[in-house]
Amino acid sequence: MKLDHGLLLYEGKAKRVFSTNNTEEVLVEFKDDATAFNAQKRAQIEGKGRLNCLITGKIFKILSKRGLPTHFLNTESDTWMLVQKVNIIPLEIVVRNIASGSLCRETPLRPGKELSAPLIDLYYKDDKLGDPLITDQRIEILGLASSEIIYEIKELALKTNSILREFFLKAGILLVDFKLEMGFNLKGKLLIADEFSPDNCRLWDLNVDDSTQKIMDKDRFRLDLGGVLDSYEEIYRRIKDIAF
Ligand code: UDP
Repeated sequence: MKLDHGLLLYEGKAKRVFSTNNTEEVLVEFKDDATAFNAQKRAQIEGKGRLNCLITGKIFKILSKRGLPTHFLNTESDTWMLVQKVNIIPLEIVVRNIASGSLCRETPLRPGKELSAPLIDLYYKDDKLGDPLITDQRIEILGLASSEIIYEIKELALKTNSILREFFLKAGILLVDFKLEMGFNLKGKLLIADEFSPDNCRLWDLNVDDSTQKIMDKDRFRLDLGGVLDSYEEIYRRIKDIAF
C-alpha cells in the first residue's frame, strides 16, 4: 500500500523516511531488504518489511504505555508508521542479557552465558569505521552526548530491557540482546526511535532446546539457517494479542 507522503528524506538499509505536511512528523516505510555484516550480505525477503513494521508498532505501544518516551505515533498500514521527527544520536545502544554475537567474539564469554546484570554496550554509528565499540569519555570528546545525556540514554535502555524481557517471556521467548537508537525531537526531548524488530534483537524460543533451532531473529539470515520469514511471523503471532 502506498501512502500519501512528501519528499524522500532518507533511505537506509531497511527503511525509507518521507516528509509529511506536519514538520514535526515523518512517515517511515519498512522495506523487504535484508543486510548483514555491514551490508556485505544482502537479500530480499518478501514480507519482512510488513512483519518488522507490525512488531515495531506493537513494541513501541507497550513502551509508551509503560511511560517510556518513544517517537512512535501510529501504524498507518502494514508497512508504514507515523513517527515524530528526531535527530538521531549516532550511537547504537545495545543491551545484553545473555552472551552472544560480538560479545563472544571479543571476550572469552561463551554463547548462552547468562550475564549477572544487563550489560550496555555503546557503538559509534559510522559505516566507514565499522561501528566501533565506544567509551563514555570518547562520546563526550566527540560531542555526541554529554555525560547527563549518556546517563539518560542508559536509564532508558535498562527500563526498555526490563519491560521487554518480561513481555517476551509471556510469549515463551527469551530476549537475549537488542539494539536501540535514540534521538531528540524538535522540542529537544530524548526519545527511543528507529525500530524494535527481529532485525535488531536476538530472540530465542524457550520451547526449543536445540541451539540453532531456537533462534527466531535475524541470526537465521546471518547464519543461513533458513525460515527467516516464518520465524518473524511466529514472533508476531505470539506477541500480537498480549495485553501488557
Ligand atoms: N545489532 C544491530 N545492528 C548492528 C549491530 C548489532 O541491530 O549494526 C543488534 C544485533 O541484532 C544484536 C545486538 O545488536 O541483537 C548485538 O549485536 P552484536 O554486537 O552481538 O553484533 P553481531 O554479532 O550482530 O555482529
